[in-house]
Amino acid sequence: MDSKNHSKQKKIAVIGAGAAGLVAAFYALEKGNQVIVFEKNEIAGKKLRITGNGRCNFSNADLSFVHYEHYSDCEGADFPDSNTSEHDLHIISSILEKNGRDEFIAFLNKCGIPSFEKNGYFYPLSERAGELCDLLVKVLRRKGVTFRFGCNVREILRNTDETFNLFGEKYHSLILACGGKAAPSTGSDGGGFKLARSFGHSVSFTYPVLVPLYSDPALLRTVSGVRIKAKAFGIVDGEVLSSDSGEIQFTDTSVSGIPVFQLSRHLTRAIEEKRDVRIRVDVLPDLSKDRTEEYINNRKEALGPVSFEEFFEGIFPKKYYEMLLLRFEEFEKNTRNKDSESVNDFFDLEQREEAFIDFAKNFEFQISGHAGFENAQCTRGGVLLSEMKESLESRLVPNLYIIGEMLDVDGDCGGYNLQWAFSSGKTVGDEV
Ligand SMILES: Cc1cc2nc3c(=O)[nH]c(=O)nc-3n(C[C@H](O)[C@H](O)[C@H](O)COP(=O)(O)OP(=O)(O)OC[C@H]3O[C@@H](n4cnc5c(N)ncnc54)[C@H](O)[C@@H]3O)c2cc1C
Repeated sequence: MDSKNHSKQKKIAVIGAGAAGLVAAFYALEKGNQVIVFEKNEIAGKKLRITGNGRCNFSNADLSFVHYEHYSDCEGADFPDSNTSEHDLHIISSILEKNGRDEFIAFLNKCGIPSFEKNGYFYPLSERAGELCDLLVKVLRRKGVTFRFGCNVREILRNTDETFNLFGEKYHSLILACGGKAAPSTGSDGGGFKLARSFGHSVSFTYPVLVPLYSDPALLRTVSGVRIKAKAFGIVDGEVLSSDSGEIQFTDTSVSGIPVFQLSRHLTRAIEEKRDVRIRVDVLPDLSKDRTEEYINNRKEALGPVSFEEFFEGIFPKKYYEMLLLRFEEFEKNTRNKDSESVNDFFDLEQREEAFIDFAKNFEFQISGHAGFENAQCTRGGVLLSEMKESLESRLVPNLYIIGEMLDVDGDCGGYNLQWAFSSGKTVGDEV
């Protein structure tokens, strides 16, 4: 249908000019509707502009559903079906299947934005999220979308004929695309959840995810500034929940980097519940236990006679190695005091080297908190999918649609959340 075909034209309000809202507006307009986008900021996509360190990692080569799964929300959730029911799994996977990465790339191409893939991550060719956003708004305006910037929507009335009233005007359909609570300075401060609740929708507990985690400042000060390639394990009450590899970063107060962000998806709830949460950092992930002896012998042959401290020099960043050495000595002392039988182990040099490797592979940071929504990239939780149809139309209110981060869907770091914003936005834009 042509966008100028006014006979079947419906008037659609989109609340929020973030990634999801812009996509929904594009496709709703393509269907021949009149589309008005309300945005509380003076510009569109404040969050979109800072994605991927300003480069906009918008999708991933591996879009399998596992990247959207939750591990820790099953027990004791306020809504037990939060992202775990067959219905939820079905909705997410069918939406991603119908409107996946290829459709996202095709959309960008339609807007004149070529893209490329590097190591499985997809970016616009310009690698400039801000320019991508400006261009999207320009294209949408050119096609006929109206933007009302500086317009904070606090109240929407429902008419008896299943339409909506907003700032005194009548709309046939309403698309809520207000984001979650992450990075509230960009505009998504949870206000969208209030709007959803005003229509009778339930919102699950929310947690910041893809967020730095806090640990003991005395320990962190000794490794502050270090970036190290490692495998990290997220542990709750002694149970390993998930693991991820990549570059881990340390500051005076926090542990971060992509592997920690990924783990945070499964840990922030446990942190808030004051459970025992740890990040185990394996700085020699490719060295298996049965190869340790050979590894030590090879190194001995290469280095000749050196002291224990010199033996591992050059493997790890210096600051991290110094911390490990110090903590290893403390560990040895404590073990000697606790368990006199193992004293001899630590006087045997061969075994000391092996013990150090084991220590370096299993060093744990006790997690004391998370850096909050202010520093998070995404929101865990949101409007329950059980209250939505597969088209993302509300089951409670006809002609009401909810998309993007407002829904109880979150994905791993690596383009999964923008992909969801696109997939859900296109699903609804095609439907209204
Ligand atoms: C620092 C950072 C980096 C990120 N990097 C990536 C990345 O590289 N790849 C990736 O996939 N994901 C990334 N994300 C996550 C991704 O940006 C979000 O998941 C995605 O933008 C969500 O899109 P959305 O449209 O649902 O919500 P948002 O982008 O939050 O947009 C919602 C919009 O609605 C507006 N709004 C809210 N309430 C109202 C109201 N009542 N009235 C009017 N307007 C309202 C807001 O101002 C906002 O503009 C990153 C996030 C952050 C914070």
